[in-house]
Amino acid sequence: MNRAIKIRIFPNREQQGFLDAQFGAVRFIYNRALHIKSHYYKKKGINLSPTKELKALISVAKKHAKYEWLKQFDSISLQESTRNLKKAFDNFFSPEMESRYPQFKRKQGKQSSYHCMNIDCDSESIKIPKLKSRIKAKVHRPIEGVLKSITLSKASTGKYYASLLFDVEKVLPEKPKHITQVKGFDLGLSDYLIDSDGVKIPNPLFLLRAERNLRKKQKSLSRKVKGSRNREKAKLLVAKAYEKLTNARNDFQHKLSKRIVDENQALIFEKLKSSNMMKNGKLAKHIGDAAWFSFVQKVRYKADWAGKHFVQISQWLPSSKTCSCCGHKLESLPLAVRHWICPECLTLHDRDRNAGMNIRLAGIIDLKAEGFTVSA
Ligand SMILES: [Zn+2]
Repeated sequence: MNRAIKIRIFPNREQQGFLDAQFGAVRFIYNRALHIKSHYYKKKGINLSPTKELKALISVAKKHAKYEWLKQFDSISLQESTRNLKKAFDNFFSPEMESRYPQFKRKQGKQSSYHCMNIDCDSESIKIPKLKSRIKAKVHRPIEGVLKSITLSKASTGKYYASLLFDVEKVLPEKPKHITQVKGFDLGLSDYLIDSDGVKIPNPLFLLRAERNLRKKQKSLSRKVKGSRNREKAKLLVAKAYEKLTNARNDFQHKLSKRIVDENQALIFEKLKSSNMMKNGKLAKHIGDAAWFSFVQKVRYKADWAGKHFVQISQWLPSSKTCSCCGHKLESLPLAVRHWICPECLTLHDRDRNAGMNIRLAGIIDLKAEGFTVSA
């Protein structure tokens, strides 16, 4: 099983120079490969494969005095660059992704490089190929398992990070056969999370504030003249606000997911319909902000690790407009309606809680179908 952690690293000035040059080499390979590929296709109609013909060009280039400098850098990171180019083309050709044609990488954007040989890490430093000294790091979690790869990155704020991937040999705890604590969860807009007991977790204020701050900084950026120094400054502020929001959100999601996994034996969620909802402009912002997908992912792996059931029911269940008491289904229920009365059994429903209860019921059916007993 793989486990990834992302940590902040603190290269000294000399190491920063090396890392920036390393990112530059990776970017150089990517951009050259993209250029050659586009050129061959346009001029000759030849479709070169990034991971075959173009990758092979790296070692050819290194033999020329002009490109000899590439030898100073981890060759795996350079090869990985062509794999990333292939991914960018795969996304471009995939009808679902709606990606644009691969673009040249810019020095100003996010930088990264991948390493999987001659690497090491301990609780306070990491080691990467071709750099003799170790880079200071802040590892906030105990290290378990065998280190498989390090992906270095530099955010547009100038901070350096490393994503460490570990192969962890761990036998997952067995999940209970008989379940007594089971809850359904609905992800909301006005509240972050609503469970089938009606408990609502509001969007935390610090997240709302961080979002507001990001919007403010983005607005200010849009007013700056292109190419001006002020625009560069405003860009950095946007990047910082974005980084702050992402970190705060991640932290919040980790804590909340841990808490609900601790409290339950089975957790039921709906599959997310984000690809459909994304097309609705107004909702897209909220969904992006709440980052539900990454939250559910955290719940899922934490549940696996703790020996808890994680169930995702069909996204087509009309969980909001079905009465969780008698099963009566409304024709429609506009998003603005927060409370409603079932015309069949006259139960007064809180929209979100009712949805949570339906999600829970559907999940229990799935669990029973798999042979588990549920008494809750
Ligand atoms: Zn009813």
